[in-house]
Amino acid sequence: MRAKGLLKEYEVVGRKLPIVFSRNYAVRFGGLERLHPFDAAKGKHIHKLLCAQLQLDDGSFYEPTELTKDQLRRIHTREYLKSLRWSMNVACIAEVPLMAFVPNRYIQRSYLRPMRFQAAGSILAGKLALDYGWAINLGGGFHHCCSYRGGGFCPYADISLLIVRLFEQEPFRVRRIMIVDLDAHQGNGHERDFNNVAAVYIFDMYNAFVYPRDHVAKESIRCAVELRNYTEDGFYLRQLKRCLMQSLAEFRPDMVVYNAGTDVLEGDPLGNLAISAEGVIERDRLVFSTFRALGIPVVMLLSGGYLKASAGVITDSIVNLRLQGLLN
Ligand SMILES: [Zn+2]
Repeated sequence: MRAKGLLKEYEVVGRKLPIVFSRNYAVRFGGLERLHPFDAAKGKHIHKLLCAQLQLDDGSFYEPTELTKDQLRRIHTREYLKSLRWSMNVACIAEVPLMAFVPNRYIQRSYLRPMRFQAAGSILAGKLALDYGWAINLGGGFHHCCSYRGGGFCPYADISLLIVRLFEQEPFRVRRIMIVDLDAHQGNGHERDFNNVAAVYIFDMYNAFVYPRDHVAKESIRCAVELRNYTEDGFYLRQLKRCLMQSLAEFRPDMVVYNAGTDVLEGDPLGNLAISAEGVIERDRLVFSTFRALGIPVVMLLSGGYLKASAGVITDSIVNLRLQGLLN
């Protein structure tokens, strides 16, 4: 669904929207990034489409600054951060074996620096969501990384960082957080970080037959939906609706971190599910409408989504949320 030219009434003039983006998000690896199934410039593509469809410009977006080592240390162990100085370790995390042969200085600049910008964007979006009632980071959602280990293209634990910082900096406004993780893969990073943390409720719906199948991390999930390969819209959306209600009956959060991976889309080679573009748009609408109706702020992170079509679907979904009055 595209709505070119229909959005005059929503035009943002001289006012920012709580959508976070930086041109520094894009991974540039001298062409090597094309060897990876990940759309290395997904955020940039969405930014361009949103500018055209919602009549925005660069000034309409919030821009983060790069995370510092001290900020990363708030969640990551010294040993883990040190391990990123070894190209071999980063190659394993990024799932690009050739990276092992690239000088680490180059990896820092081309891959880890963009990831630090995206992780910073998640933290900024978390703060903005408190003030606006919603925020979207056009990146982040590195849900396979925990304090001491990266993996699955996730070198920094931005979800854990976002949550820990909110608890620290907003102790009166944020005491309880719900993670709604709808990426096609199990979110084992935040699950390992928040094991036995009563203030963090994790709802995770994922394909149980693909990476990472982390059985230890699973113990942290308080509402789990394990999907089969090629699950389609009808079953998926019914389960989502049921579990959103169940989660809310068990836990009333002050904020929701929505990990909105689009690797659930039909044809995604890593997610192995069969959700249509319309299904993803309805999924996002369900999440936003459920929590916003209760006055609970939602921060959305993009997470996985490996098809070239992902950027267009995400843009259509954001435009739809705006048309539905859910991003006001
Ligand atoms: Zn994923």
